[in-house]
Amino acid sequence: MASEEEKRRQRERFGDQIRHLVPRDEVQRRKQKAKAKRGALRDKAARRRRDWDEDDAGFEKMRPRVPDPGNPAAAAGAKLSHAVVVGVHRGHVELDDGRAARIAPALLTDPDFALAVGDDVGIVASDDVVRIAAVSPRRTWLVRPDPGNAHRRLVLAANVDVAVVVVAAADPPLRPGLVDRFLVALGSGGVVPLVVVNKIDLVSLAAAHALDRTLAPYAELGVNVLRCSAVANEGIDTLRGAIAGKTCVFVGHSGVGKSALLNALDPGGHRRTGAVNEHHGRGRHTTTSSRMWLLGDGTRVIDTPGVRAFGLGNVDPEVLRTGFPDVVAFASSCRFRDCSHRDENECAVRTAAASGALSAARYRSYLRILAND
Ligand code: GDP
Ligand code: ZN
Repeated sequence: MASEEEKRRQRERFGDQIRHLVPRDEVQRRKQKAKAKRGALRDKAARRRRDWDEDDAGFEKMRPRVPDPGNPAAAAGAKLSHAVVVGVHRGHVELDDGRAARIAPALLTDPDFALAVGDDVGIVASDDVVRIAAVSPRRTWLVRPDPGNAHRRLVLAANVDVAVVVVAAADPPLRPGLVDRFLVALGSGGVVPLVVVNKIDLVSLAAAHALDRTLAPYAELGVNVLRCSAVANEGIDTLRGAIAGKTCVFVGHSGVGKSALLNALDPGGHRRTGAVNEHHGRGRHTTTSSRMWLLGDGTRVIDTPGVRAFGLGNVDPEVLRTGFPDVVAFASSCRFRDCSHRDENECAVRTAAASGALSAARYRSYLRILAND
């Protein structure tokens, strides 16, 4: 028979054992507790992400595209403030807050990556160095083939609401073909066109009627066409109203009066956004000499002095159709479903152009762009 002392020791040993042998319900309890803790951590992270999104409302789900390994703040998902690119140079870009920013090296590893004027970027600043760590998806864009490399496209402007396609009523003579090319490029980039016919002071009454006939197809397409004179200050208020508060890009042949229009729109003198820097290198990441200006009323204007003859390069037929809805409208009556409307038999588009139901000038433009002429 064990003594009381022995029983006590047995109880102690047993107690030790049950402390190591955790009962089943206790295991369950601990598992649930760990699960709850993981859930709480997940919620906390989600909350942090949500706050971040709300802070950057309008930044369209922007995420650091590639975190900058050289910048711990970016890598840790630090809050990015956002800015708009107003000028692109070799190795740096100018931002709308006047600062120059470097592009994070990680972003530069993508050979097709190039920032454009108008890009919405996420920046991190540390020790006076501003770095671009992310780029939000472009809403709209205006691209043209790179004259130096047929396989590349240059983004002339990004996130533009309206493109002001400036032509002159005379001196230089109006070339509707150029307008047609712009409409294709703008249509494929989601930019709304606004055609401005400047130098209206130069045309006689007879010439004005001819001009009306030339411009009629655009009005029929639903494109807004304004007649202006920068010199006589005609139609300038209407133009100012049409672009007020928007981001727009001015495109058109040189000499048509783009600068004169900008000056007329903002007689106080439009400001360059950001710092003035005329240097335009020719590096891989120097895309265009586009520049964003700020008018007195807050309208942002992107000037693209590089645009002369606007080559489109090889245009995908699908893209071509977006710029020629008036041509497409007749295509369903063509004999062949895949009719190019060039020289096929029983082509309803060709017939329409011959009868005048479709503008012959528009049809010629269509054929020239199709032929990459
Ligand atoms: P840009 O190359 O498109 O910027 O064209 P500019 O603004 O430099 O204008 C080219 C020339 O056209 C200049 O000599 C201007 O004075 C002239 N010009 C601009 N707008 C008008 C206009 O509305 N009427 C007339 N008659 N001349 C204009
Ligand atoms: Zn056809």
